[in-house]
Amino acid sequence: EKFKEGLTKTRDNFSSKVNELVARYRKVDEEFFEELEEILIQADVGFDTVMQLIDELKMEVKRKNIQDSKDIQSVISEKLVEIYREADETSTEINIQENALTVILFVGVNGVGKTTTIGKLAHKYKSEGKTVLLAAGDTFRAGAIEQLEVWGDRVGVEVIKQAAGSDPAAVMFDAVHSAKARNADILLCDTAGRLQNKVNLMKELEKVKKVIEREVPGAPHEVLLVLDATTGQNALIQAKTFKEATNVSGIVLSKLDGTAKGGIVLAIRNELKIPVKLVGLGEKMDDLQEFDAEKYVYGLFS
Ligand code: GDP
Repeated sequence: EKFKEGLTKTRDNFSSKVNELVARYRKVDEEFFEELEEILIQADVGFDTVMQLIDELKMEVKRKNIQDSKDIQSVISEKLVEIYREADETSTEINIQENALTVILFVGVNGVGKTTTIGKLAHKYKSEGKTVLLAAGDTFRAGAIEQLEVWGDRVGVEVIKQAAGSDPAAVMFDAVHSAKARNADILLCDTAGRLQNKVNLMKELEKVKKVIEREVPGAPHEVLLVLDATTGQNALIQAKTFKEATNVSGIVLSKLDGTAKGGIVLAIRNELKIPVKLVGLGEKMDDLQEFDAEKYVYGLFS
């Protein structure tokens, strides 16, 4: 239900157009496909992914000998899920350690919803009875530490921090040791989000990761890149930069509720080959959902 609610804008934009198209065309012909292509592009599904989808739809229409346009709707849903699944070599589940500390690193540019996502995830794990700690690794941006503390208070979890401007790697060292001392289950680590200088970004992330790797074997268990769905194709460009800077294990797509172009989920999945693991569907504590391709596509069309 949350999923459906959060997709209202995309549904209004995308699915209603598809429905209208199907109603208008009795026959599935070249013109029908051209219009469908346009709708998909406008929903930010991404050019390459749209081309792939249209090709596969055409083949399927031929194979099943579909002539009436009303019969194509279910095929569109099936193909959307399929494209998603095919790109899905890795699990969309968050890699949580049983009976050991799980360290999750969050990366992404300022304003995408990193802090909010950390807060929401802290709430989720705390509700499951886990001990959660937050690491204020963005020592660069003014107010970042305080903002994380606001979430820490809200959710009721401790934030490990140092003074603004201090070395993020030192904060991580501290955080990991605090987590061990408190027998914590989950450590969620914020990082700085400036993209102006890729070399610096890379160096800082590497340094932070090294400390975590050294102190907790096998960690970080996830490096989650947070992307703002409302920035559309820009999110894809950011993702490419981060992918070059570090090993991203999953995507959090925030603000999916704020965009009519939710097709970006497919573009990210299909073009980057990184699984979307979580989606943000609002500003509140429990507006975070694990991504599920079937639920997503179903949410679009129902
Ligand atoms: P950060 O700079 O990456 O840490 O970004 P913030 O966590 O501060 O988020 C920036 C803004 O986006 C805030 O106003 C959040 O409330 C808002 N935001 C974050 N996630 C979502 C979401 O899933 N949906 C909506 N509608 N707003 C969100």
